[in-house]
Amino acid sequence: AVRVRFAPSPTGMLHLGGLRTALFNYLLARKYGGSFILRIEDTDQKRLVPGAAESIVRTLEWAGLQFDEGPGKGGPSASYLQSQRGDLYRAHANELLEKGAAYRCFCDSKRLESLRAEATLHGRAPMYDRRCAHLSQQQIDNKLRAGEPHTIRLLAPNAADPAASDVSGFDDIVHGEMRFRGPAGFDDAVLLKSDGLPTYHLANVVDDHLMGITHVLRGEEWLMSTPKHRALFKAFGWPMPRYAHLPLLMNPDGSKLSKRNRDGPMQSYIDEGYLPSALVNYVALLGWHPGGQQEVYSLKELEGAFTLSGLSRSKSVVSRDRLDWLNRQHLRAELSDPARAPAIAAQALVELRQTPGLDTKGISHDAIEQALRLCGDRLTLTRDLHSAVPYLFSDPDSEAPPAPAAAVNKVPRDSKVPILVATLELLAAEARAVADSSRTSSGRPERWMDFSKNVALAAKVPAKLVMPVLRHALTGQTSGPKLPDLMDYLPLTTMQRRLQAALD
Ligand code: GLU
Repeated sequence: AVRVRFAPSPTGMLHLGGLRTALFNYLLARKYGGSFILRIEDTDQKRLVPGAAESIVRTLEWAGLQFDEGPGKGGPSASYLQSQRGDLYRAHANELLEKGAAYRCFCDSKRLESLRAEATLHGRAPMYDRRCAHLSQQQIDNKLRAGEPHTIRLLAPNAADPAASDVSGFDDIVHGEMRFRGPAGFDDAVLLKSDGLPTYHLANVVDDHLMGITHVLRGEEWLMSTPKHRALFKAFGWPMPRYAHLPLLMNPDGSKLSKRNRDGPMQSYIDEGYLPSALVNYVALLGWHPGGQQEVYSLKELEGAFTLSGLSRSKSVVSRDRLDWLNRQHLRAELSDPARAPAIAAQALVELRQTPGLDTKGISHDAIEQALRLCGDRLTLTRDLHSAVPYLFSDPDSEAPPAPAAAVNKVPRDSKVPILVATLELLAAEARAVADSSRTSSGRPERWMDFSKNVALAAKVPAKLVMPVLRHALTGQTSGPKLPDLMDYLPLTTMQRRLQAALD
């Protein structure tokens, strides 16, 4: 069975790239009925950011990516916090010591520093010179007795050794056959630090094995670490999972999507009010090609459609326009879903309350839902509701002149006045027929279908003059939702007030 993991280091909040990694792992698990595991790689105490792990979990929940095993959820490999698995890593480092696949290194930071400086001077990649690999057992015992601090290093395969090329190569799902051959083999990576805590490499490999991970989908920045991981798997005698290294996300200008960029942190998308479904859809298409024409996917649909072969080798460029387009599609779809619409309306109402000078007391959830629907796919984010259709919430400025090119300007004044007068008369009749003429939205736009025609008859003007005049009087705008939908939304008293103002 497929077992995959998302293994973030809680050194900050979740980014777009992190969500993509989590999503692809999640999708692979769901597609094949496998397990999606969340593992927090928090062994580097110096880089921990308080609250980051919790925030990552919350963001995954926001996106709807439920994990099957992980912190707070438990599972056969608990704990899923690496900081609580220290004994396991120490035991495994000792196992490699006993096998002769690792050795204790007593070199202090001063010596390592000078090795690095020398390598840099000669334009070589810094590499440990293996001095401690040649210590005698006697020397080691003496140093241990004296309590000298030390690390444990992997005895990495050497390039001189024909087995090395075998160890370094692996078959990446995205990139295909990978070969790494350094001139002098690989650096003897530190596995256990002098404080007894594991490095990323050791903890990552031990956990991938103990948690039964079958596929590792992770960012391309880890590609260069994979030969080390391969060497470690080999040293333990464990089978290696299959790896897929996902190409980096780029800004439109070709630069790396950086942490400081507003397109990076997930929290900025959440704060701006993007829908989880739209963001998940967007991220899925950054580096994965479904191979058809369909662009709009729900999470459920993605779970069925995801394939490893659709993973792309080239870098993906982020695009706000694309995300905005997807948000409009998902917003419209979710507003027609009775299970989702109320929550969206509730969010929009919270946002609407932040509009300065707007009285929102009388606005019901139903009215908001209706207003959102009226916008169709003109609305990208719910928080833009007021600026998109301000006239649904407050009277337009009846003094403001329409745009010069507007159709309403072509209507002569001696037609305009009769249109407004006839409309007011028809509305008065309508008001007598309903119980409460101050109510918003009856949900029956069809009753306004023939209204313009009736106005034209009563005012004795050509029918095509009516619409621009009414729209402008009611909204102050020259375009927007269909007139019957708009008239259905606005309370009769509101329409009467605005038409009167246009007449005065
Ligand atoms: N802890 C690493 C990270 O933060 C995990 C890399 C991996 O998936 O192996 O990205």
